[in-house]
Amino acid sequence: MAKIAFIGLGNMGSGMCANLCNAGHEVHAFDLNEKAVQDAAAHGALPALSLAAAVKAADLVVTMLPAGKHVLSVYFGDDGVAANAKPGMLFIDCSTIAVEDAREAAKQAEAGGFLMVDAPVSGGTAAAEAGTLTFMAGGPDAAFAKAKPILDAMGKNIFHAGASGNGQVAKIANNMLLGISMIGTCEAFNLAEKLGLDAQTFFDISSVSSGQCWSMTSYCPAPGPVPASPANRDYQPGFAVAMMLKDLRLAHEAAVAAGAKITLGEMAEKVYGDLDARGHAGLDFSGVMKDLKGAL
Ligand code: NAD
Repeated sequence: MAKIAFIGLGNMGSGMCANLCNAGHEVHAFDLNEKAVQDAAAHGALPALSLAAAVKAADLVVTMLPAGKHVLSVYFGDDGVAANAKPGMLFIDCSTIAVEDAREAAKQAEAGGFLMVDAPVSGGTAAAEAGTLTFMAGGPDAAFAKAKPILDAMGKNIFHAGASGNGQVAKIANNMLLGISMIGTCEAFNLAEKLGLDAQTFFDISSVSSGQCWSMTSYCPAPGPVPASPANRDYQPGFAVAMMLKDLRLAHEAAVAAGAKITLGEMAEKVYGDLDARGHAGLDFSGVMKDLKGAL
């Protein structure tokens, strides 16, 4: 069993930390928010008084932080992870951050003699609590091999996507496709209904025809056909507009850097940016449907 420093005990990190404890690991938990540390302790973690104390007590580090600037400062800032880590230690960053930031972090880790993987997740807080997240990891083979048993304790599907940063590439490309397909699904249901075809009948036809996609069959944005989808609880998340917008912005930034054309990705970013600007950041991302109906 490993000694793990877990940094970032928010919506996602709290459940992930609890699952590492449940798997029998010794977890030293730290967050800037003291209440989050106390909650982690109630779920079996050892509360750490500082980032440095958590890292010094551990053999590897797992982070789940808001954005790239937090990740770079937690790992490489003054008295951060690298300054307190044992030689050759493994760093696993599960946050969703820019590809460029993930590659910069991996470069700095390697220069310091450490192993690092970027391992962002798919699946929300329910999957984090249930230990059923999908991890898409980037980094050297040796780092991934060491990280795999740790990720297994927090997830169901673990993929090695290739070199450093490739976990983030998989994450943003997938979520850009999800944003585009959700908007398309909402427009199709709205069009069908406006032309006199009810949502259930359209679902029955399209879900076994060429328009079929995950946004329709697993997360239907029209109330009724998929009872567990947020459409049936007035679009409470689920996966919020703010989170989708974050991922679309990361995809846009990476596309510009790579010279990749993403016409629909940019349009999806505009749609979610508009919802966010109008005060609907907390709405589920399938709430585009509600907006099309003029109900926002
Ligand atoms: P969150 O804001 O709830 O949690 C982040 C935690 O990090 C907070 O508790 C905060 O206090 C802590 N933190 C920030 N700076 C710190 C520092 N310097 N030292 C120690 N702790 C620090 O965010 P979340 O929803 O848990 O998301 C975390 C990451 O997971 C994000 O990158 C997000 O994009 C990604 N993600 C979230 C979801 C989701 O459904 N919430 C799904 C997939 C991926």
